[in-house]
Amino acid sequence: MATVIDGKAVAQTIRSEIAEEVRALSQKYGKVPGLAVVIVGNRKDSQSYVGMKRKACAELGIKSFDIDLPEQVSESDLIKQVHQLNVNPDVHVCGKKCMQSGILVQLPLPKHINEEKVLSEISLEKDVDGFHPLNIGKLAMKDRDPLFLPCTPKACIELLSRSGVSIKGKKAVVVGRSNIVGLPASLLLLKADATVTIVHSRTTQPESIIREADIVIAAAGQPMMIKGSWIKPGAAVIDVGTNAVDDPTKKSGYRLVGDVDFEEASKVAGWITPVPGGVGPMTVTMLLHNTLEGAKRCFEKNH
Ligand code: NDP
Repeated sequence: MATVIDGKAVAQTIRSEIAEEVRALSQKYGKVPGLAVVIVGNRKDSQSYVGMKRKACAELGIKSFDIDLPEQVSESDLIKQVHQLNVNPDVHVCGKKCMQSGILVQLPLPKHINEEKVLSEISLEKDVDGFHPLNIGKLAMKDRDPLFLPCTPKACIELLSRSGVSIKGKKAVVVGRSNIVGLPASLLLLKADATVTIVHSRTTQPESIIREADIVIAAAGQPMMIKGSWIKPGAAVIDVGTNAVDDPTKKSGYRLVGDVDFEEASKVAGWITPVPGGVGPMTVTMLLHNTLEGAKRCFEKNH
């Protein structure tokens, strides 16, 4: 049976480490990191993600700034807001000095706003989501280091390394090639010296490719697509997929499942993450980690 990687427990450990570093920064510089969280409109899922992020900030001593904009806000007004946040100096909040050192624009944005345009206006130094094209570009280049890594792919690598799974020289398969998960996850694995193959919706016979992998990162958004028989015995399986499927036995009428058939795959794999409780809790934690890293650079520069 596979070792089940407990994302919640790993996330808790990392959050304690971050809280400790925030305290140390506060002592050294007399101020704490701040994260501006921008949300446009009233989408329920976005509101809930933003709520989680703001709550997590508060728990670790990071100050979050709430910028809630109406659904109809124009692209140019949103960009103006981003520009203001880019140059936001120290501010005092509840008697505490704080530097707004990270900016997060919750996606998706309403259809009339060009996401790519907005994201590329965020200052590179404050791009804690790691979605700025320059950050992604550097991730794709040899011997270049982006200032920030995108949170979910960073979470996958952190889960592997904290579970003692070595990446160097291993065959890794990433299922999915989105800009926010699949593609950057494959680039991170490559940077860590894995030999990487990407499987996507046009790949023929994905099972034969996945069966070769020592490491599988699944991010296709296809409920339980990857069967136990597709997994190489002893492989490490990181399941990013978060899919709601009907379940009349639940009060909500649904349950969350991953892209991997957990019951089957856990009998074959060496390590596996559950859904929920695997990558999910780690993603927000990596956002906080990025905010801390950005603050350290900001504080040092402005000291
Ligand atoms: P996208 O829909 O943007 O991308 C899905 C990718 O999977 C695409 O590249 C697509 O290929 C590929 N794909 C779709 N169907 C198949 C298939 N049958 N076989 C192989 N590849 C396939 O999704 P995201 O990357 O945003 O998210 C992926 C999953 O991860 C979702 O379930 C999402 O909810 C979850 N997620 C979880 C997070 C967490 O923190 N736990 C954070 C972010 C996402 P193609 O490019 O050819 O269309």
